[in-house]
Amino acid sequence: MTATPGVSTHGYACASCGARLEYAPGTTMLRCPYCGHEQQVAQAGRAVQEHAISELAPLVGKPAATAEYVFTCAKCGAQTTSDALSLQCQFCGAPLVRQQAMPDQVQPEAVLPFAVDKDGVRTALRGWVRSRWFAPGSLKKVSEAEKLKGTYLPHWTFDAGTRTDYTGQRGEHYYTTETYTDSQGRTQTRQVRHTNWYPAAGTVARDFDDLLVIGTDRVSPEHLEKLEPWPLEEAQPYQPDFLAGYQTLRYDVAPEAALDTAKVRMDKVIRSDCEQDIGGDEQRLHTVDTTYFNVMFKLLLLPVWIAVYLHGGRSYQVLVNARTAEVIGQRPYSPLKIAAAVAAALALVALIVVLVVVSRN
Ligand SMILES: [Zn+2]
Ligand SMILES: [Zn+2]
Repeated sequence: MTATPGVSTHGYACASCGARLEYAPGTTMLRCPYCGHEQQVAQAGRAVQEHAISELAPLVGKPAATAEYVFTCAKCGAQTTSDALSLQCQFCGAPLVRQQAMPDQVQPEAVLPFAVDKDGVRTALRGWVRSRWFAPGSLKKVSEAEKLKGTYLPHWTFDAGTRTDYTGQRGEHYYTTETYTDSQGRTQTRQVRHTNWYPAAGTVARDFDDLLVIGTDRVSPEHLEKLEPWPLEEAQPYQPDFLAGYQTLRYDVAPEAALDTAKVRMDKVIRSDCEQDIGGDEQRLHTVDTTYFNVMFKLLLLPVWIAVYLHGGRSYQVLVNARTAEVIGQRPYSPLKIAAAVAAALALVALIVVLVVVSRN
């Protein structure tokens, strides 16, 4: 890791009380958490655009999120080394947001700003904890403010036109009647299914739009995928002000690797298109030859509240979609509560047995 000094940060000082301005979820405002002073988020002055995949060529082979940068806090002067795009000063809490483009990186094109604020996420977490059976007491603490981190996570989106030539076989079922002798020695008949295979070939075409691929491996992809779907059409052109007060991870999944992942997913859909096109009762695919054209991509930041809590020496992560308030998380079970529930169930059974015995006498 090499540290590159000299990342400029915006002050984000509150013009009214001198504290700090943070992006206020669900608005187009920066707001001071102390005095409530508000200021408009700067206008990006452009629309969200997709980029041609050829724009990646000069970046191929460049490291993604390996270089660390030194942020100098415009408020207290403290220096923080980080590979994030934005974070909070650990000494005074002021937003540290990288303002200028990163020379060796794909720039975020769009951001889906936070819509669920801290109160909203606490409500969502309390609801989630209440709906969990046998949750230990430590889970109840998950909605405590200091363990909540608003984080923008990098995602890639891909668009592509595809045209696929395939060859294969179409299977058509037919039935014959067979006679056989059953165990009693009687002659019986039965229907037997067979398949006739015929050669098949053809061409299918499909356009893919905004196929989403996770751009970080620091958060469990299985959990992150469960936060989908995202209202992608509400994404705004990237503007550093939206990041003020939040942590923003840089991508560590390179765009080429993400495109490979996207193609694997496109291939699944294309294969099912081919089978549909073949028709019949069963299909076999021998060759599937896809041409991709107009491949476009963009780097998009999606807002997630991340809560971490400790239980039994293990840390558990809970994610909240900061647009839809959907909660996805790992959770432990309380052995004590399960034991208590089992004991209560056994006691109930014993009580019923006693009542039945008593009523018979
Ligand atoms: Zn203020
Ligand atoms: Zn500071």
